[in-house]
Amino acid sequence: MVEKDFVKSVTAMEEDFAQWYTDVVTKADLVDYSSVRGSMIIRPYGYALWENIQQALDGRIKATGHENVYMPLFIPESLLEKEKDHIAGFAPEVAWVTHGGSEELAERLCVRPTSEVLFCEHYKNIIHSYRDLPKLYNQWANVVRWEKTTRPFLRTLEFLWQEGHTAHETDEDAHDETKRMLDVYADVLENVLAIPVIKGQKTEKEKFAGAKFTYTVESLMHDGKALQSATSHHLGDGFAKAFGIQYLDREGKLQYVHQTSWGFTTRVIGAMIMVHGDDRGLIMPPKTAPTQVMIVPVAQHKEGVLDFAYKLKKQLSASFRTGIDASDKKPGWKYNEYEMKGVPVRLEAGPRDIEKNQVVLVRRDTGEKMFVALEELEARLAALLDEIQGNLYNRAKELLEKKTSKAADLGEFKASLEKNPGMIKAMWCGKRECEDKIKEETGATSRCIPFEQERVSDSCVCCGEKAESMVVWAKAY
Ligand code: AMP
Repeated sequence: MVEKDFVKSVTAMEEDFAQWYTDVVTKADLVDYSSVRGSMIIRPYGYALWENIQQALDGRIKATGHENVYMPLFIPESLLEKEKDHIAGFAPEVAWVTHGGSEELAERLCVRPTSEVLFCEHYKNIIHSYRDLPKLYNQWANVVRWEKTTRPFLRTLEFLWQEGHTAHETDEDAHDETKRMLDVYADVLENVLAIPVIKGQKTEKEKFAGAKFTYTVESLMHDGKALQSATSHHLGDGFAKAFGIQYLDREGKLQYVHQTSWGFTTRVIGAMIMVHGDDRGLIMPPKTAPTQVMIVPVAQHKEGVLDFAYKLKKQLSASFRTGIDASDKKPGWKYNEYEMKGVPVRLEAGPRDIEKNQVVLVRRDTGEKMFVALEELEARLAALLDEIQGNLYNRAKELLEKKTSKAADLGEFKASLEKNPGMIKAMWCGKRECEDKIKEETGATSRCIPFEQERVSDSCVCCGEKAESMVVWAKAY
């Protein structure tokens, strides 16, 4: 077998997008499957990626005044049942612990699918006065939801996330917080992951179980399907009433707190893959990439080449996440491997380059190759990584715009979805029947009521009655 056959090939996107995705996540060493359906092993390359994303988000969570805490993994059944909409929404997805060793438990414990009730129980104990507010807590944790269909990162039984849980004096304060954290999510998605988003409110049908309303950031994948990338919920005072979380206000009167919760998960890694990847594999935005520059020595058996490459590695590591592959595999194999792994820039250095005091840089996003003098290397690399980050965002934005259509009636709606799968902007009367009918007839669900409204037509795309708002619809993951 010639060495090039060892390069792990990826199914073409056009041929089978789902298979392309599976190929990429496994062959780029992001995940491995485990023996439990829907659970994944996040491998070092995938985990390093998560850590970079996590760091970017955690910094912003702290900069907006939040503190990290840790809550227990288990929730007693009686506690979960306290808020009736919440339990009704989560019951079908909850995993239960019934035994400790061989002994049956007196009360079942659920493995947290989300931790509102745990925070509520704690808040009831620690909030007494307006002086205790706001409480701005966040936890980084794993949660379990017994999903029927699963796919690595996008929808798993167990996933990693952060969940923010806050309590405020007024409804308005809680509303501001809900918006603030949605903006933080949009910032991380757009400026770190290079994924453009549509910000908006979920319909009543799609909102979080127990919330007053839910804000969301929606993004569009390469195949024209949408993905709910993160959500921020205004919980109102419903949980506070169910749990009795009260404080003495400035006039000495007892009031219920107003709460929020917001979550961002390993799902965004799936989004990053499906937004930026191509037929050669992953493309990592430089700000998230575990390795930003991969050095591949050329003709490394020749004298001086490896020394030169290692010296470069040391020098560049001061400013960039730099890797080197000095294994005995052929350069061609290495080029393919790091293209598949989505490393933003490849640096080639061989005897001729050493002679000329230069290296070769190759961009992953465009394939462009450039010769760069050693004295300019750091500056050029920094600029190049910025340029790649910007280019990925612009490409994704163009794709979103290209794959967004408008429809005035259901006929147009279906034709658009068929011709140009993606987001459909269409007016809606606000009635659940129309939302259900649209899903039934087209397969598309309401993604959100965007904050930026447009008047696409005068009447509801489904029933033709007076429209309340413009909704973005799409088939979704
Ligand atoms: P929620 O608390 O239900 O609003 O969930 C917060 C966010 O988690 C959602 O907006 C999704 O982006 C993400 N999410 C929900 N279910 C899963 C899952 N099974 N796997 C990965 N991410 C998920």
